[in-house]
Amino acid sequence: MFRQSKTVHQKLRNIRFQWQNPSWRFRSTSATERALQYQEGQKIHGFTVKEVVTVPDLFLTAVKLTHDNTGAQYLHAARDDKNNLFSVQLRTTPMDNTGVPHILEHTVLCGSEKYPCRDPFFKMLNRSLSTFMNAFTASDFTMYPFSTQNGKDFQNLLSVYLDAVFFPCLRELDFWQEGWRLENENPTDPTSPLVFKGVVFNEMKGAFSDNERVYAQHLQNKLYPDHTYGVVSGGEPLAIPDLSWEQLKHFHATHYHPSNARFFTYGDLPLEQHLRQIQEEALSKFERTEPDTAVPNQPHWDRPREDHVTCSPDAMAPDAAKQNTLCMSYLLGDITDTFEGFTLSLLSSLMISGPNSPFYKTLIEPKIGTNFSSVVGYDGSTKEASFSIGLQGMAEEDTEKVKQIIVQTIDEIIANGFEEERIEALLHKIEIQMKHQSTSFGLSLASYIASCWNHDGDPVQLLKISDSVAQFRQALKDNPRFLQEKVLHYFKDNTHRLTLSMSPDEAYLEKQVKAEEEKLQKKVQALSESDKKDIYEKGLELLSVQSKIQDASCLPALKVSDIEPTIAVTPVEMGTAGGVPVQYCEQPTNGMVYFRAMCSLNTLPEDLKLYVPLFCSVITKMGCGGLDYRQQAQQMELKTGGMSISTSVNPDYSNMDMYEQGVLLSSSCLERNLPDMFHLWSDIFNSPHFDDEERLRVLVMMSAQELANGISYSGHMYAMTRAARSLTPTGELQETFGGMEQVKFMKRIAEMPDLTQILRTLPRIKRHILNPLNMRCAVNSTPQKMSDAAGQLDNFMSNVASNKKDRKPVRSDITKRPLDPLAAPGSGPSRKLITEPNFKPCQMKTFFPMPFPINFVSECIRTVPFTHEDYASLNILSRIMTAKYLHREIREKGGAYGGGARVGGGLFTFYSYRDPNSVQTLSTFRKSVDWVRSGQFTQQDIDEAKLSVFSAVDSPVAPSNKGMGCFLSGITDELKQAHRERLFAVTDKSLVDVAGRYLGIGQRTCGVAILGPENDTIKKDPSWVVK
Ligand SMILES: [Zn+2]
Repeated sequence: MFRQSKTVHQKLRNIRFQWQNPSWRFRSTSATERALQYQEGQKIHGFTVKEVVTVPDLFLTAVKLTHDNTGAQYLHAARDDKNNLFSVQLRTTPMDNTGVPHILEHTVLCGSEKYPCRDPFFKMLNRSLSTFMNAFTASDFTMYPFSTQNGKDFQNLLSVYLDAVFFPCLRELDFWQEGWRLENENPTDPTSPLVFKGVVFNEMKGAFSDNERVYAQHLQNKLYPDHTYGVVSGGEPLAIPDLSWEQLKHFHATHYHPSNARFFTYGDLPLEQHLRQIQEEALSKFERTEPDTAVPNQPHWDRPREDHVTCSPDAMAPDAAKQNTLCMSYLLGDITDTFEGFTLSLLSSLMISGPNSPFYKTLIEPKIGTNFSSVVGYDGSTKEASFSIGLQGMAEEDTEKVKQIIVQTIDEIIANGFEEERIEALLHKIEIQMKHQSTSFGLSLASYIASCWNHDGDPVQLLKISDSVAQFRQALKDNPRFLQEKVLHYFKDNTHRLTLSMSPDEAYLEKQVKAEEEKLQKKVQALSESDKKDIYEKGLELLSVQSKIQDASCLPALKVSDIEPTIAVTPVEMGTAGGVPVQYCEQPTNGMVYFRAMCSLNTLPEDLKLYVPLFCSVITKMGCGGLDYRQQAQQMELKTGGMSISTSVNPDYSNMDMYEQGVLLSSSCLERNLPDMFHLWSDIFNSPHFDDEERLRVLVMMSAQELANGISYSGHMYAMTRAARSLTPTGELQETFGGMEQVKFMKRIAEMPDLTQILRTLPRIKRHILNPLNMRCAVNSTPQKMSDAAGQLDNFMSNVASNKKDRKPVRSDITKRPLDPLAAPGSGPSRKLITEPNFKPCQMKTFFPMPFPINFVSECIRTVPFTHEDYASLNILSRIMTAKYLHREIREKGGAYGGGARVGGGLFTFYSYRDPNSVQTLSTFRKSVDWVRSGQFTQQDIDEAKLSVFSAVDSPVAPSNKGMGCFLSGITDELKQAHRERLFAVTDKSLVDVAGRYLGIGQRTCGVAILGPENDTIKKDPSWVVK
């Protein structure tokens, strides 16, 4: 969703280092070389160069500057990557719970001096080819990043971002819409009761329906109680209505100033051009101030503290009697000490990651709880870092036991230290992360340096990862007890420690509702009659502003003619290894090899289908060959970048009732470790272990807990999956594998006292799935390594040949599609798709009651597959409806966090996210169809929708993922090009036409699903199935 708020617990420690290899660009002078020509002390457009440094590990040149007049700080990372990124971050340190930085983050994007139209941020989504646009509120900074591959687009977006941040309108109505307001429940009826409304108000109510979030917020507030980390930067829902518009403007004036700003640019566009534009459009209009935003260190406690909080009970919890959370948090050192931060984050991984870590052995394996507490390990997102360790899903009576175990484990670590091999595995992981390339490197970099830089740490030092690794090795060499001494200092001898427990309270939601009601009554009682009249009139004014046709012509825009007419071709080659078809794709993978295999489920008996996701999540974690599960985990960390299996359901591109079902094996490794990786796969194929019930139970508990926790965050995904279930065979299978049905199934398994029946089921599944006769492979590597990789793959296939067994497909209606797009039908290897000619789509409305105060609503309509001539029109249609109607009705007027429409898998899907409304939103979906059929949109709207669709179609693909669309779905470059041409050709006539034919009442077969709180309207309506 856009405008995510990352108020707490930013997972910056999980950062991955990704980039694109410079060797595949043909250019006389590279961006990194050009940047090396800057000189320390050089003046450019009001800035002075402070430092120029090459960072060979990351293939970049860093240029650090400061702005002469205002003191604004600037970092440029020059790198031969087309996906250029800009970000500006402000240090925002609130001292109350009103959510002022978060509401400000929303409100500045609602219009600015140069771009006074309403909501330029959302409008730019449709006027640009951006690969990323967003804004974040963290605990102590607010960040506005975007990225794009197009130079003109970069300038456009930069102009809009700069104006939004430094010259926003901050109109009272924007504050009302985005922050909070009192308004008549029905704005056109002055006699309807007054209620609280506002986007952030509802967003935060939704955010705090997530128990993990509640816990993380309390933990931070209580561990750092004395300054900005003691408050909720996103806003405590009931404190939000204490914020006034004046306070909001004052916070902007004191915090959104260049003297309090850090600018970051990344990519291959020239630095001077950025500097000139930033100077001319923003910085030249300011003088230096002395912002009072620094965060002081938290005074250290002289003795540990304990505290307790409550949350709402979770109906999906794997064990209803075990819903307590307990964790101990330790205050660590200042994050601006780069090497100390590096050491502590490595130390944290050694302590908690994987089955070989001490805390996994002492806390997870005895099965006292379902999983580690939601906050666990090193967290460097605050000025002083913290480390947390504990459990969720545990019984209250185990509290003392868990505390004891934590203390004992720390003693054991101090006594015994860590195995050398585990330290090597961790350093290998860092090497892989630096080599693996992905498409959002600039963004990863911006988030990686944000916290440290925010407190005046040196971002360049942070980028020199090899230096830290070398320093770490030296420290270990000089003092073998280096890590143990850190544990002694930061954990055993540390009196700034908080033990926080959380338990469910049956009356939690009720109390919340009551507290909101009281707050509301207090506000309402203070109102005079004329105040109420005022509120009514303002409500009407807001409604009329929201409903007005908007003129966005002040905003810059790309044109449809700026879009590349043809796609870049991805050459792949077909071959075989040991009789198994293989797709080879040569890519600049920077010394990595990526191996994937698709294994068909066509022979798997129907009654085993529900177990497939469980099979996938445990098969690489139970031990194999001569390795027990600990040794297996160790080998994987030492030799690979990860090995995993997941379900894969791919609808056919031309037939709605046809699909391929399988599991996808994914793995990667450094070139030198390829034989080891295939050896591990061979062991998994030939002799996986299925005998350890205790191990299985640990894995089952962890996944059941993860699934249960995910619902409040991804409720829209579950609603969409459920709504699609009765419409296509693919939809049905997707619900089985990844919908609410699967969540409930995993809960049932977690509740079973005896798992031996499951242990017996796993090898049955294995015999059907890990069978070379049902398999095809894909390898992405450098051209130099490809023939070696092919040889190794051939070896692997002969090692697993004994698993070859010809099994009959469960269904007879199998259609073969050639893997080689150029081959004649029937010749050569093929994908085997299942057809269900007798599938009858049917209407279905399902409601899942949930302990949330907000809803996730979805409606799905069966339409046409990818190659159908109408698909492109439906695609553009979904964008127009989202941008021009649904966003306004569901978010702006309805107060939901988000909502829209999209196409895929032969379906047209409406959804809303964290929505205060339920069935009303369904009627909004229907009204959007009437709106589009009446043709109230312009050519400009269509062009914008096209830009928005193409920015998704043309988003960069990492070398590791090139050719995967073709491998998985058989969608070739030719099919993509044909679709592209149909997208260009979409007209207003074709849009109105498809809206009528597919989405009109009577024409459609639709499914509906809602996840949300108890709902009387639905209860009384017999057409709903209540789960
Ligand atoms: Zn927000």
